[in-house]
Amino acid sequence: PIRVRFAPSPTGPLHIGGVRTALFNYLFAKKHGGVFYLRVEDTDQNRFVPGAEQYILEALEWLGIAPDETVGKNEKFGPYRQSERKDLYKEYADQLIDSGWAYYAFDSAEDLDKLRKTDEENGKTFIYNHSNREQLDNSLTNDAPTTAKRILDGEEYVIRFKTPVGELLQLKDMIRGDVKFDTNLLDDKVLFKSDGMPTYHLANIVDDHLMETSHVIRGEEWLPSMPLHVLLYRAFNWEAPEFAHLPLILKPVGNGKLSKRDGDKLGFPVFPLEWKDPKSGETSSGYREKGFLPEAVINFLALLGWSSGTDQELFTLDELVNIFDLGRVHKAGAKFDPEKNKWFNHQYFQRSDNEVLAHQLSHTLLEKGINRPIETVTEIVRLVKERATFASELWDLSNFFFVAPTSYDEKATKNWKEDTSELMKRLIEVLENTLDFSTENVENTVKAWMTENEIGMGKIMQPLRLSLVGSLKGPHLFDIISIIGKEETIARINKAIE
Ligand code: GLU
Repeated sequence: PIRVRFAPSPTGPLHIGGVRTALFNYLFAKKHGGVFYLRVEDTDQNRFVPGAEQYILEALEWLGIAPDETVGKNEKFGPYRQSERKDLYKEYADQLIDSGWAYYAFDSAEDLDKLRKTDEENGKTFIYNHSNREQLDNSLTNDAPTTAKRILDGEEYVIRFKTPVGELLQLKDMIRGDVKFDTNLLDDKVLFKSDGMPTYHLANIVDDHLMETSHVIRGEEWLPSMPLHVLLYRAFNWEAPEFAHLPLILKPVGNGKLSKRDGDKLGFPVFPLEWKDPKSGETSSGYREKGFLPEAVINFLALLGWSSGTDQELFTLDELVNIFDLGRVHKAGAKFDPEKNKWFNHQYFQRSDNEVLAHQLSHTLLEKGINRPIETVTEIVRLVKERATFASELWDLSNFFFVAPTSYDEKATKNWKEDTSELMKRLIEVLENTLDFSTENVENTVKAWMTENEIGMGKIMQPLRLSLVGSLKGPHLFDIISIIGKEETIARINKAIE
């Protein structure tokens, strides 16, 4: 059975790259009728940030890709929080010691620093493995009783993985194909720390195994860990899951990974929800609060590093589930394009229900002391929506429906010619005599009057729009007239003539 996981460390808000990883796991699971679970990897106590775990779950919930199993939900292989599985990992570390796949190491931080420095001075990168582990201060002197005594004496130690020597690992990645690693270039990574906690590597492998993970789908930054992970499966005699490493998400301009700073600089969020850092108190903006629709964020993220192979760009979550294919995930990094991001929101915003939006706009109206029937506001939303990408823009696009302009666009007043005021006065008369103020009827009446009197369109329409809107913007003029009504239309023209 297919079981995939999203395994964030709650060290802060979920970056958009993390959301994309969660999404691809979700799509893969659903496509194959499998399970998508979330495991909280919180074994690094120094990096723990309160609130981050709840944030991650809330974000996935908002986006509509909540896990099937997680902390407090269908904990089939629970607990799903690694800090609560602490005792378990030591057993597995010991198991590797017993089988000779791991060893105790007593090196102090200073010892390691010294070695690192010496290597650097000689132009080498320091690798802690067979090349020096024999000489270092650890149990590989093969004197088990000495080691046991040192531990009993309370000397600090870590448990390291004993990387096999001189092996060329040929591994398979579902996205990258064959990837090769020379074990001589791998570090003997720490599996268990002196503080009694496992490292990411050990906890991650143990849990992926115990939680019956079939596929590991994660960011490219974890590719260098893949050989160690595969070797750990070998050491435990467990079957390894399949691996798929997703391409990086790159900055919109320049090179490198997208960072929070890029977002701040260009004014777009890189987090799904707003986040207030508990330490600094600093707030980072979020997609939700900025008015992005979850469907739009999902659609945009799905295409960051994956393509359907067709020209289609708009996909619902269900459609994505149907056509998603790890084989179509790109190897190359995907550039994050904030404009495209907005374009998607515009598309989905157009599909939002007008009445729902009208209720939102009514809220803004009430704050300004304006009260209109919901039917009217819905009609206004229908008229201006096309120009909006976010609900927050509706007021700016529609305010003239509710309040008369207090100023007139400088440039547009050029359209106010010598005879304009006179023409406007005549137009008022025509409007006075019009009983039916439906869009269609006012339009027909005014146009008939213009034709009859051989008055050019431009002579009326632009000054009229300026009088009603204050600028040359806005939807179809006769829709505006019909909605604001006869009295208000005439009042606004009169005011403009003054
Ligand atoms: N806890 C790791 C992270 O923060 C999980 C990496 C993995 O998926 O193996 O991304």
